Amino acid sequence: MSFPLIDTHTHLYLEVFDDDRNAMITRALEAGVTRILLPNIDMNSIAGMHSLCDAFPQNCFPMMGLHPCDVKENFREVLAEMEALFEQRKYIAVGETGIDLYWDKTTLVQQIESFETQIGWAKRMDLPIVIHARDSFNEIFEVLDRLNDSSLRGVFHCFTGNLRQAEKIMSYGGFMMGLGGVLTYEKSGLAEVVCDIPMESIILETDSPFLTPKPYRGKRNESAYVKFVAEKLSEVKKQSLQEIASITTANAEKMFRLPS
Ligand SMILES: [Zn+2]
Repeated sequence: MSFPLIDTHTHLYLEVFDDDRNAMITRALEAGVTRILLPNIDMNSIAGMHSLCDAFPQNCFPMMGLHPCDVKENFREVLAEMEALFEQRKYIAVGETGIDLYWDKTTLVQQIESFETQIGWAKRMDLPIVIHARDSFNEIFEVLDRLNDSSLRGVFHCFTGNLRQAEKIMSYGGFMMGLGGVLTYEKSGLAEVVCDIPMESIILETDSPFLTPKPYRGKRNESAYVKFVAEKLSEVKKQSLQEIASITTANAEKMFRLPS
């Protein structure tokens, strides 16, 4: 039996899905994952993302933004081109943006500027912002402490922080946390943290092709596997899978203003 689920963060337009993309979408639909939200990465990922959304207009929804790992010297020009795209089609969110200090610390100043610019878009266009945080909670909180207000809402995608960080995120008022495959990794300790995070702040994602949940850890991730994250959350929260599915789906519909 399957319940309706939303994969709120997945990169199904990437090359690793070129051979079986349609079959993979079919598997997702069969698993109850009827809505799939696609964060953008850089200029090169846009065409593939758009064509996937054009092929599955009821199921796939694009976002627009620049990933922090792709903030290069020309990032201001890239951001200007991306901003112009909002005039041409509907995007359900700004992202993914944020700060990543795991791969490259030398671009921190540029990453902060790029993040701030994209927060400005989210406020002006009344869209949620999708935040990638890797080794960078303090830097991100510093930005949000300055810029958060009642016009901003968004998601900390692939949340893997501690309870103090979760509480800080919730204190901003308009933010939720996206949980993915890491929840199924025992050593992550995430399950204990998630015990204390209220369901109203949680949405589900895969971040595929990365971070595959158990029992497929180590293999390529795909949207159908969001059900394994839902099952783990059901175990952690001691709530039925049906409740988990309906609460997280309603949360995602609210955050991204998707029709229910
Ligand atoms: Zn991502």
